[in-house]
Amino acid sequence: MSVFTAAADQSVCTPLPVLGRDVTVPLVTGGEVTYAALDYAASAPALQRVWDDVAAYAPYYGSVHRGAGYLSQLSTDLFENARATVAEFLGCRADDQLVFTRSTTDSLNLLAAALPAGCQVFVFETEHHASLLPWRDARVRYLDAPRTPGQAVETLERALADRDPDEPALVCVTGASNVTGELWPVRELAAAAHAHGARIVLDAAQLAPHHPVSVQDLDVDWVAFSGHKLYAPFGSGVLAGRADWLRAAEPYLAGGGASRKVTRRADGGVDVEWHDSAARHEAGSPNVIGAHAVASACKALTEAGFDTLVARERQLIDAVRAGLAEVPEVRVLSLFGDDAPRVGVISFVVDGWNSSHFAAALSAEYGIGVRDGLFCAHPLVRTLLGSDPQTAGECGAPEAAPGEKSLNAIRVSFGAGT
Ligand code: PLP
Repeated sequence: MSVFTAAADQSVCTPLPVLGRDVTVPLVTGGEVTYAALDYAASAPALQRVWDDVAAYAPYYGSVHRGAGYLSQLSTDLFENARATVAEFLGCRADDQLVFTRSTTDSLNLLAAALPAGCQVFVFETEHHASLLPWRDARVRYLDAPRTPGQAVETLERALADRDPDEPALVCVTGASNVTGELWPVRELAAAAHAHGARIVLDAAQLAPHHPVSVQDLDVDWVAFSGHKLYAPFGSGVLAGRADWLRAAEPYLAGGGASRKVTRRADGGVDVEWHDSAARHEAGSPNVIGAHAVASACKALTEAGFDTLVARERQLIDAVRAGLAEVPEVRVLSLFGDDAPRVGVISFVVDGWNSSHFAAALSAEYGIGVRDGLFCAHPLVRTLLGSDPQTAGECGAPEAAPGEKSLNAIRVSFGAGT
């Protein structure tokens, strides 16, 4: 158990204080303990700083882009300043658009709805379902799981070489796996995509909380991430990148805010001119508090410095992996091998243990919160577990019987606030 308590050691100075570090939870064995949150990959606790920034603004909020009053102007400024802060955090190009969404899932679905006609999408089967599934209305080519970063680039190169170069194409790739924590060769994949006339979107849901993400340095066309994994509360996400496809697309949601001019036609119908700016895809009253919170988290991470955050997380990763390596029954899941660079996301199975029971016991007996299951990346987890791809493991399904291969895994994840 010391393996996990090392990662959640309350006495180790955290570079960025988060909420909930002193929450106590009851144990089945009696008594209480301080909760050890080790499920950051699902949702990270909000930073104290984010909470303070939200609280400072909360008494003053008003409608955004639709009010003459002082508080409406204040909210509009706050919302647009948040957009500028997040764009800077992501190293966006001057002519990029940044759309505030609800989450990474929402961002990728928005991009899927904005694909030009005939667009072909290339995606590895190892992706989180948020990056795997939104493209199913387009022509999707699912790529087999690579076993090295180099193989990922070769696989993509081969697939792109086969396509009709006159048709638009999009590659969707994750920056850091939510299962293995392994980093994907984003820059190389972007270069391969562009060399073949395709565009690329980066799912940075697990990367952005741990490493600096720069649209320009990585040379990706779009990036998507979620506020609740980046130490802000739920309900806010971001899609940032090239404006042209977004501008040419029908609005993601139809409604006020997205429309510049609406007129009644002589035949009784209605004509609409949509905005060309990010507002086109932000119909309805926006989540100004969510945008403000994301911007606050971006500032906090930048000020803490990713060099410091990465170095400390490296120590935690090494400590947890070394501890797990001492337990012969534990098998850590990895696609690219032990030496692959990774973020603080580690999945494993324990021989002789049902993963769900193991995770439940960590919670009930030790107050340690981890995740069990297939982590919304069913094909990848099945590949890593060596399960039968057709039948094994599904959400809510029973685990393998004792002595049989595990169908689920256990995941510990942590980050700057740990
Ligand atoms: N992409 C990755 C790699 C993820 O890990 C997740 C969530 O776990 C998502 C996308 C979806 O994020 P959200 O649930 O915030 O939309």
